[in-house]
Amino acid sequence: MAFAIGFQCIACGACHSTCPTGAIQRARPRFRIDPLLCTECVLFAGEPLCVTACPVRAIVELIPAPTTILNSTINGVTK
Ligand code: SF4
Ligand code: SF4
Repeated sequence: MAFAIGFQCIACGACHSTCPTGAIQRARPRFRIDPLLCTECVLFAGEPLCVTACPVRAIVELIPAPTTILNSTINGVTK
């Protein structure tokens, strides 16, 4: 699981309508991301679309994606 929706969520639904895999589901008290459906937008976009769509920055990366770790290693960047 790479992304999660935090308490800042105001339930605007922007991420829900943006997600290409249907990973974002309505829940209470806020939307949630199904880790089995989230592909981190790989093959759909160059960035996680839900993160870009969220107006309050409620979607956070919990664990760096494998591609992020690989890029960091290649670029010699330590996070
Ligand atoms: S990162 Fe992409 S696939 Fe994953 S929940 Fe967000 S929009 Fe959906
Ligand atoms: S876009 Fe952000 S504020 Fe809107 S429902 Fe998704 S997580 Fe919540």
